[in-house]
Amino acid sequence: MTDRIKEFLARNCEDGPRLVVDLDVVRENYLGFAGALPDTRVFYAVKANPAPEILALLAGLGSCFDTASLTEIEQALAAGATPDRISFGNTIKKEKDIARAYALGIRLFAVDCEAEVEKIARAAPGAKVFCRILCDGAGAEWPLSRKFGCAPDMAARVLERAHALGLVAHGLSFHVGSQQPNPRMWDRALKVSAAIFRDLAERGVQLAMINLGGGFPARYLKDVPAIKTYGQTIFRALRRHFGNRIPETIIEPGRGMVGNAGVIQAEVVLISRKSDEDKSRWVYLDIGKFNGLAETMDEMIRYPIRTAFDDDALGPCVVAGPSCDSVDVLYEKEPYLLPVSLEIGAKVLIEGTGAYTTTYSSVGFNGFPPLKSYVI
Ligand SMILES: *Cc1c(COP(=O)(O)O)cnc(C)c1O
Repeated sequence: MTDRIKEFLARNCEDGPRLVVDLDVVRENYLGFAGALPDTRVFYAVKANPAPEILALLAGLGSCFDTASLTEIEQALAAGATPDRISFGNTIKKEKDIARAYALGIRLFAVDCEAEVEKIARAAPGAKVFCRILCDGAGAEWPLSRKFGCAPDMAARVLERAHALGLVAHGLSFHVGSQQPNPRMWDRALKVSAAIFRDLAERGVQLAMINLGGGFPARYLKDVPAIKTYGQTIFRALRRHFGNRIPETIIEPGRGMVGNAGVIQAEVVLISRKSDEDKSRWVYLDIGKFNGLAETMDEMIRYPIRTAFDDDALGPCVVAGPSCDSVDVLYEKEPYLLPVSLEIGAKVLIEGTGAYTTTYSSVGFNGFPPLKSYVI
């Protein structure tokens, strides 16, 4: 919670949940990444928060952009990024979207199988491709599991095929899982990557780049290591596996770039109990899974919730959203402690909500509008 956000909320009273993002924090985060990994280009993962003000700030600071769709490519271009600073990083793309991206000047594409390589060879001849390798996301609070990437031996084949089809087999990528609290998780993926580099070099294909992905955490309830620690640990792993022939590297932070820059102000709509014996209070907010807090799915992301009564005694609560869907419960398996003095109508601040909130909110389930957002 920054003073600028506090002042904004005090000056602008209005009903309904709203996100306020402080650009000063985004700038600090960008400079933090650039300083922690000085020889690494930053590709901001646009999906985390595509607000035009955020993209324009980052474009001005020299950031590149990782995009997943034509719309995100257009958003990055509109913010001032040139096409050489944009990657089409989704491994699942329609061929006509690849062609359109190519026409817009995009030359860097992600793949994880030969069928996607063939699409790119047809629709974006001569472009650079990097192959995503599977990474189990162990330890991450929002793991990305098996949907993206292929096994290491297949990655070598995919890139060999790209080379044969006239594309530039540029490198490898992986993602250690979002909200990854352990900087050592990059080590194993880099070891596997180095083996693929050697294997392909023997077959006459020289890779140049490693995309280290995202995964850099935002601080929620638990402390997380500083970005400096990630930078040092990753650099040591690069040295260990590549010696003094470290390839070009890029990172794709999303959550780590904007998560801690945003605060949602919400309101307590109802506090009740389900029976006279009920030990937990049910606290219903005007925000839930369908209008901004989708990442509470399976109670994976636990946001800090601040109230004006935080010095009072705490008691266990089930926290739920306002919609008429029973999955719209934020925290129940692990009850959330809130002040016993919390009242209906009280405002609460949900911290660490700059990433993966606005874009995840539905167009209007139950008539609750998408999350309002202010970037200051
Ligand atoms: C979502 C995504 C990211 C950003 O991940 P964070 O954990 O938010 O940093 C980076 N790269 C790719 C390919 C992604 O899909």
